[in-house]
Amino acid sequence: MKKIYLDHAATTPVDKNVLKAMLPYFSGKFGNAMSIHSFGQEALEAKDKAREQLAVFFNCELSEVIFTSGATESNNLAIKGVLRSYYSKFYSLKGAKKAIMPQLPFNKTKIRPHIITSSFEHHCVLDTCKTLEKEGMADVTYLPVYKKGIIKIQDVKKAIRPETILISIMYVNNEIGTVQPIKEIGKLIREKKKEKKEEGELYPLFHTDATQAANYFDCDAEKLGIDLLSVSAHKIYGPKGVGALYVRKNTPIKRIQDGGDQEYKLRAGTHNVPGIVGLGKAVEQIRTQNSKGGSKKILDLRNHLIKRILTEIPKSHLNGSKENRSPNNANFRFDNVEGEGLVLSLDMEGIAVSTGSACSSGALDPSHVLLAIGLKPEQAHGSLRLTLGKNTTRKEIDMAVDKIKETVKRLRKISGSVLEEF
Ligand code: PMP
Repeated sequence: MKKIYLDHAATTPVDKNVLKAMLPYFSGKFGNAMSIHSFGQEALEAKDKAREQLAVFFNCELSEVIFTSGATESNNLAIKGVLRSYYSKFYSLKGAKKAIMPQLPFNKTKIRPHIITSSFEHHCVLDTCKTLEKEGMADVTYLPVYKKGIIKIQDVKKAIRPETILISIMYVNNEIGTVQPIKEIGKLIREKKKEKKEEGELYPLFHTDATQAANYFDCDAEKLGIDLLSVSAHKIYGPKGVGALYVRKNTPIKRIQDGGDQEYKLRAGTHNVPGIVGLGKAVEQIRTQNSKGGSKKILDLRNHLIKRILTEIPKSHLNGSKENRSPNNANFRFDNVEGEGLVLSLDMEGIAVSTGSACSSGALDPSHVLLAIGLKPEQAHGSLRLTLGKNTTRKEIDMAVDKIKETVKRLRKISGSVLEEF
């Protein structure tokens, strides 16, 4: 049985050109990119080439690209690194200007630095914010995302306080694929910064987790007006365990991991050279794929999938905005059907789909994303995420829809639900 993989938001297969580019750096060219001998220089050259490929992708300078172990680390570095810099400046600048350091840290009676994020970020952002709140290091506002799964600019505007140091909003949601108005937020923040008359005022900074966006959406830092942007290789046909953080020049940020001087002293640890080479090749290929109409092909297939499911399966619903979502994402819920049961049954038929984020799919708690768009816990349990990839075919989609139809019908029968349509 040929298996059908429709879980590209969880991870993607490594592209054959990416693999080919990486292979020499595991064995023959195994040097440490920090060594000064020829082995090291060979690795350094490869790493520099990847940095150039990312700089083209982000439309930025080479020194604005920081390699990490993936988006989890990039997001942690962006948020904790900015906060750490904020606090370290407070202690090093005696008599710091009120505009730069508007409050006393650690004094619970005073105002703490403020972070704005959304209520349906990936756990690596949400949990980071929650930890910082618990430790008394920051106050956090979690913006609502409403039924369509999209934040409102007015909410961002209203939430900004004088002590807001960071706004972190994901580009594309990993479960329901909805696209956030990143460019508009970037514009708003730039205006806000201009309004602040005090010299030297750098805050608020703007970070976006572009992990699920990088394949299909513009990651040009200038056009987006962002200061920090996270990506991960394994979501874009690159290897697992490597990612990058775009950091705008002069952004106040400190490293969160102590050690060597790698990555402009912002990320200590021996470089994952094969991984970095793979990430570079992966971002380079995105441009070629999209210019060849790759995302349009996926969009048409995805629309075909949504149409068939909603018309052929009674009491099925699409979660999140239909228009404003990533071209490869469809997330449904089926009344009276448990999502986990559906995923397991489909897996037995050779179809790989998911209920939501792979990072928490072992948990039985309803998805925080689906609760954030206003679903009741029992509705959130009945969801199914299908995410297409560049090699997905129409035949695969049709086979998957036929199997989903059959399985939903069977599970509803088992659960004793009486639906006249079946
Ligand atoms: N952010 C988002 C939106 C994601 O989808 C993921 C992966 N599920 C991550 C962050 C974490 O990425 P990584 O696996 O590279 O740590």
